Amino acid sequence: MQRDAPIPTWFGVGGGADALASPRSEEELLACLDLDPACRVLGDGANLLVHDAGVSGLVVSLGQGEFSAVDVPPAGGGKPHGEVVVVRAGAGVNLPRLVVETVRQGLGGLEGLGGIPASVGGALVMNAGGSFGQIADVVGRVFGVTRGGERVTLERGEIAFGYRCSGLGDLLVTGCELELRRGYPETLRDRLKEVMSYKKSTQPMGEKSAGCCFKNPTLERAVAGIGEAGQRVSAGMVIDRAGCKGLTVGGATVSERHANFFPVRSDALASEVIELMEEVERRVLDRFGIVLEREVVVWRRDGV
Ligand SMILES: Cc1cc2nc3c(=O)[nH]c(=O)nc-3n(C[C@H](O)[C@H](O)[C@H](O)COP(=O)(O)OP(=O)(O)OC[C@H]3O[C@@H](n4cnc5c(N)ncnc54)[C@H](O)[C@@H]3O)c2cc1C
Repeated sequence: MQRDAPIPTWFGVGGGADALASPRSEEELLACLDLDPACRVLGDGANLLVHDAGVSGLVVSLGQGEFSAVDVPPAGGGKPHGEVVVVRAGAGVNLPRLVVETVRQGLGGLEGLGGIPASVGGALVMNAGGSFGQIADVVGRVFGVTRGGERVTLERGEIAFGYRCSGLGDLLVTGCELELRRGYPETLRDRLKEVMSYKKSTQPMGEKSAGCCFKNPTLERAVAGIGEAGQRVSAGMVIDRAGCKGLTVGGATVSERHANFFPVRSDALASEVIELMEEVERRVLDRFGIVLEREVVVWRRDGV
């Protein structure tokens, strides 16, 4: 266990953890839960902003040992195209690497998630995805441990996956089974390239951010120039139309390229990102009466 440890996030700003543990097995994870049943789980830190004062309690990083294992059945010569293949992946497996590896082996289903930085656990909890699919589309089962230390297996039908949410809530997700389909590696590779080049051409992928800060809102009523009642509209478009592109607080800015990305300079404070999010929320509410819901998860010390 590390004391006063930095918490690696894609924003690259903010405070650290009073204590950080990297268990390598379920037994070690259960020992972490004995120490702090309310411990926070860190994935790849791609959707996370840690407050400048850091966080108290234990942070558990699941990137090692059995949590980083992948079990892909060997390529079956002559196996029928379209056959379902179950791939088992630990929560700490790097999603982009899993996408590339499964595509290379001619297993389809994850190629629409190309370019999304995540651990498998974080992708499941957030139901990561976009216009080309979401991880829920291929989930067969999820494995986890409850705060009370009970090992559980949830079937796909028992999980309340929705738009950028899973209802997995308080569970410590330890792994999953993904149901992929045998296909042609060349076709899957071409699809992955298309997905990646779309992302690169529309999003500031090279800058330090957490991707989209806000979820795409569903309109409660028709909003002139934005959309009809019941329609889910792009948060980036709404933020842009509210005149927020380029808005800056300290080292954090609303991207000119994609208004739902808030890239930061390396000397930015997490409080500046939070202030920027609050200002954008205010402007969108004042201008259109739309309440934006945050997609980015903010960790803060109790009482701060
Ligand atoms: C450049 C960029 C582009 C992005 N593009 C997209 C996109 O196209 N689509 C999209 O959906 N997202 C996108 N994101 C956001 C991010 O990739 C996803 O939200 C991803 O699912 C986060 O996974 P993570 O492992 O990094 O989770 P983290 O950021 O580490 O954690 C996020 C939340 O999940 C919880 N969590 C993580 N692992 C576990 C676990 N094993 N058990 C229980 N809880 C856990 C954490 O406690 C936290 O509450 C982007 C981010 C960046 C930086």
